[in-house]
Order: sequence, then structure tokens, then C-alpha cells
Amino acid sequence: MKKISHFPYKHVLVLGLAKSGTAAANVLLHNEINVRVNDYNTREDADDVQMLRDKGAEVVVGSHPISVLEEIELIVKNPGIPYDNIIVAEALERNIPIITEVELASLLAKEHRIISITGSNGKTTTTTLVSEMLDHSNQKVKLAGNIGVASIEVAQDLEDDEKLLLELSSFQLLGIQSFKPHVAALLNLYEAHIDYHGSVENYIEAKKNIFRNQTSEDFLVYNIDDETVVAAVQEAKAMLIPFSVSKIQPEGAYVKDKIIYFKEKPVLSLDQVVLVGKHNLENILAAVCVALLSGATIEGIQHVLRTFSGVKHRLQFVEKINDRLFYNDSKATNILATQKALESFTQPIILLAGGLDRGNSFDSLTPFITNVKAMVLFGETANKLEQFAEQVGISQICLVEDVKEAASVAYNISEKGDVILLSPACASWDQYKTFEERGDMFIQAVHILA
Ligand code: ADP
Repeated sequence: MKKISHFPYKHVLVLGLAKSGTAAANVLLHNEINVRVNDYNTREDADDVQMLRDKGAEVVVGSHPISVLEEIELIVKNPGIPYDNIIVAEALERNIPIITEVELASLLAKEHRIISITGSNGKTTTTTLVSEMLDHSNQKVKLAGNIGVASIEVAQDLEDDEKLLLELSSFQLLGIQSFKPHVAALLNLYEAHIDYHGSVENYIEAKKNIFRNQTSEDFLVYNIDDETVVAAVQEAKAMLIPFSVSKIQPEGAYVKDKIIYFKEKPVLSLDQVVLVGKHNLENILAAVCVALLSGATIEGIQHVLRTFSGVKHRLQFVEKINDRLFYNDSKATNILATQKALESFTQPIILLAGGLDRGNSFDSLTPFITNVKAMVLFGETANKLEQFAEQVGISQICLVEDVKEAASVAYNISEKGDVILLSPACASWDQYKTFEERGDMFIQAVHILA
């Protein structure tokens, strides 16, 4: 396990256990730092509690007594814990610095290249693309952050020359001090997580932390089509690398005559790209920039673009059966996401939708259903969606029990050339534990049909 260099704190509070808190506490203990851990939701008999006590940590669970702040010089906070938490608020009063494990990870990975991606949407897709592109270019890279494994877990065991690729949320970025990626990307900025950040301005400030410590030796890839992003990057000191789906950008990535270019060199013709959707083209252009700036080869990138069919449940291509194309977009738990999915196809679409009823109407789907020929509906919102479908003149409407039946009914009413798209526009919790479970059921049903 690596050691943290130049760490001035002797008494550290790890706030919030879970996987990342346990990993952070372990790293600090390994560095002979006095560690206190506090978690409200963990019980005395949890495995991690005893393990951390055996290693010398003081562990307080089940409550948040203010006394946990005694002697504390630094807090490593789980990104999920809000700033109005009683301990966090008191620490802010006392001017105790608060970081997330991402900052600790970056201290551990000082000798390694850090690549980092953020944005309101498209983070997982872009980060996955970059990871695959580097893998297929024989670059050593480890993936972490918002995408699964905690950054610190990966950072402590990096091999020589291995790069650290991080997908970061605004919550994680809020807790950094010296974190400095060599290549960073800011994909887009929509209004999000206002309940946590208090205002859009605070949310954007948190996102800007991705480039705050970069210097003119570093790169910042940004979406020049997004006004909010363009305004935000004005303060950056890194070399700015733009990408655009609509305009030629000789300094970055763009599309001309249906060919993807980077710095005026062709990368690949769009007709060879498997991933569909304009939003995914943005993610692809961002990924091409980040990957090339991080050591990927054109061949590696071409291979990934020719084969990558999407991150699971995000407009993922599942299978072609008798010239019908099946797509799983179970992650579309709101109308905006379903709009993006519908925009992605020119073929006739059979839309599979429905789920948890949040009391909203579906009227804002109207401009996007021009090539929807049929709707197959399930879940709590089935009747509401049926009314909507009748109102907008969809001629074929079927009500079914679940996504399994939806897949076979859709296939039965389809014709050659149709797209059969699961993009529910609703959360899954009325019938499924998660959107992943809903998507998996659909994939299974499609495989059975095949
Ligand atoms: P994130 O990790 O930021 O949540 P994902 O890559 O998981 O993003 O994509 C989640 C959903 O966000 C997609 O299903 C799609 O609806 C939407 N999306 C993806 N990329 C973009 C983009 N570049 N711009 C706008 N929306 C996007």
C-alpha cells in the first residue's frame, strides 16, 4: 500500500463509513495518523467497526455527538453527507477543513497521471469510453470514482506508470484541495442537485474544482456548445481543448462531412460508430479528446467506436432479431432522458414505457414522438400513458404486465426495420428494485425471443 507524502494532519475524523469511509480510514491508519470514525447509520456489531477498532481507530456509531470533533484537524467526509449535517456544520463553524476521499486518493497518486471527467450528464458513458480506448491502446489505466470503486481503494495500489481515471460528481469535487488532473473534461452543466448545493452557482463552483488546480501544462476538454460550460472555463489556466457536434473546432474534436476529426486529423467515419444518439456523439467527441491527450492511439479509439454498444441500460444496443433492433434504455427514469432516446433514431420506433407514477404529465414528450408508431405500456403509469398516446394519435397501443411481456408483444407487432426501444420515462420502483433489474429483465426477454 502506498504512503501519503506531506500530510500535515495528525488527528483526522472520517465521517461516514460505507466502502469509501472504511478505505479512507484504512489508508490513514496505515500512515500512522490518529483516526476517529463517526457514522450515524452503522451498528456496533458491523464487521468494519471491529476491524477498524482492532487497527487502532476510535469508532463512534449510531449517533453524531459533537465531541467527535475534539482535537480533529481534518475531516474526510463521505460525499453523500450534506453540509447541513450537524457535525459538518459545526466543523465549518470551527474552520476545520473538509475533504472527500478523492483528495486523499490524489495525494496517494501524486506520481501518477490523473484523468478526470465530470458534467451533469454523460459522465459514465464518457469515462467508460475513455477507459476502453486506453485499454485498447495498451495503456495501463485504472477506473474509479462515481463509477463503482472508491478512488482511494484504487489509488493505494496503482502500479508504476498506471494512470488513474476518475468519474467525479459535484459532491466528490466539493471536497478537494490539491487534486490536479493532467487531463480533465467538463461535459455539460444543467441545473442539478440544488437541494445539496443550495444554489446553481454553488453547484457550478463545485464542478469547477475539476480544473481549479490545473496549470498551463494540463488540458481541459470542454463542450463549446454549452454556454454555461464556456462561461465556467474562462477561469481555467489549463490548455483549453474544445469539442463540438455542430461547429468545426480546429483545436479540438468535431464532425465534418460525417467524419469525426481531432485537430484536423480524421479519426473515424460516423457510419462506423455503433453508439447512437446526438448526446452520445458529444460523449464520443469528449472521449476522443481525453483519450488522445492521455496516450491513446487512433487504432485503439477506432476499435472501441466500431464495437462499443453503450453502457448497460443507457441506450444500450441489445440485439438484432429479424431486422428489428432492440435497445435497452432502462436508465431513462424521467421524460428528459426518454426525449434524448427518441431523438436518437430516424427509424419507426415501438416505445416501451411506464413505471412509478410521480404525478407528472407526459405532454412534454409530444414533440419527440414523430416516428413512434406504437406504444407498449406497463407499470403504475400505463393508463396515463395510454391516454397520452391516444391524445397524440398513436394508432397501436398495448397494455402489458411488465417489461418481459412488453418485449414479446412489441416483437409480435413489429415489422422489419423497426426499433424496439425500452425507455420508460419513469422510475422502476413500482415493479422492480432498480432500473438495472428492469433492464436486465428486458435483456433476458430479448435473448429468449432471439
Ligand atoms: P451520468 O453518469 O452523468 O449519469 P450516463 O452516461 O450514465 O451519465 O448517462 C445517463 C443518461 O444521461 C443517458 O441515459 C442519457 O439520457 C443522458 N445523457 C448521456 N449523455 C448525455 C449528454 N452528453 N448530454 C445530455 N444528456 C446525456
